[in-house]
Amino acid sequence: MTPSKGYAAQTAETDLAPWSFERRDVGPHDVEIEIQYCGVCHSDLHQIKNEWFPGIFPMVPGHEIVGRIIKTGDHVKKFKTGELAGVGCMVDSCRTCDNCKEGLEQYCDNGNVGTYNSMGKDGVPTYGGYSSNIVVQEDFALHLSDKLPLAAVAPLLCAGITTYSPLRHWKVGKGHKLAVLGLGGLGHMAVKFGVAFGAEVTVLSTSPDKEEAAKLLGAHHFVVTSDKDQVAAAKGSFDFILDTVSATHSIPMYLKMLKTNGVHICVGAPTEPHVIPVFSLLGGRKSVAGSGIGGIPETQEMLDFCAEHNIVSDIELINIKDITTSYARMVKGDVRYRFVIDMATL
Ligand code: NAP
Ligand code: ZN
Ligand code: ZN
Repeated sequence: MTPSKGYAAQTAETDLAPWSFERRDVGPHDVEIEIQYCGVCHSDLHQIKNEWFPGIFPMVPGHEIVGRIIKTGDHVKKFKTGELAGVGCMVDSCRTCDNCKEGLEQYCDNGNVGTYNSMGKDGVPTYGGYSSNIVVQEDFALHLSDKLPLAAVAPLLCAGITTYSPLRHWKVGKGHKLAVLGLGGLGHMAVKFGVAFGAEVTVLSTSPDKEEAAKLLGAHHFVVTSDKDQVAAAKGSFDFILDTVSATHSIPMYLKMLKTNGVHICVGAPTEPHVIPVFSLLGGRKSVAGSGIGGIPETQEMLDFCAEHNIVSDIELINIKDITTSYARMVKGDVRYRFVIDMATL
């Protein structure tokens, strides 16, 4: 077995605390990565608090993982020891269903294996990146550029691909008006990609004090969603709204801001179901859609795009001891825009 140490929640009621555990031996198709940085996604908090479904405990969260390969299995072709590598939200899938064959492993008909809070095919729970090292099949590890600041690359593995994928799927770009709802970890990446793809980008935010920073990210406009006049002025404006909000919120108010044929794309995953009166869709032939992370080929495409266009996340590097207070700040929207754990502090 491969010894590992990390931070785990022992139950949904307890804070994260140091925990030692074992990972599998490095198999013929596996690589072992020494983790240098791991991003803090709001999904980590949803899951350790059982907000989506009953979790598997002890739970080591973290699916924005970057580091260096320290061991390779005998049949590994993609990586060499010493190279940088990343791991996102998945570590396995069936590889035989239509979705897997198309590189849409996130929609695997047989269910993908999550990087943590998931049961591996070997019947052992998976443990995430708030830890010293990870053993993963090479097919689910990604190549990283050594030209970008590594800590700021970590959030690309979830916040990056989760926003890149829907913008590519709906071909958002020049001539489109895109609104990004919620300026957190996902939202700020959506702004960067939207701008890079040529769209006119508006941030819809509950936080008036984020306006200046939003403009620095490249956003063209900023709407404070508690300001009735600003909301009324945005009526019928957008081709797409990318909704990254983590908490319960009312979608019909935003549907009014879409143009005819507009699409409201949900990537934020609050616990409570949305209530969407059908009349808010009929007038203007509007759609509400969803999108989940992204497949392995598209994740590599996104990482390569970021390397080419010098795109990384805006981060605040934290000591792992401060994870609980960082979660509290994230819930308050008080992070610009992603916490990343420096694993040297473990
Ligand atoms: P985050 O950094 O906490 O950002 C969420 C943002 O939502 C906040 O910064 C805030 O922006 C806004 N917000 C928070 N509470 C709100 C409220 N009550 N009403 C309106 N807006 C509110 O979270 P994140 O890591 O970006 O994740 C966002 C969501 O996406 C989470 O639910 C997460 O689980 C989900 N997620 C989904 C996928 C997927 O595959 N679809 C992947 C990763 C994450 P303002 O201050 O600008 O209002
Ligand atoms: Zn995530
Ligand atoms: Zn599959």
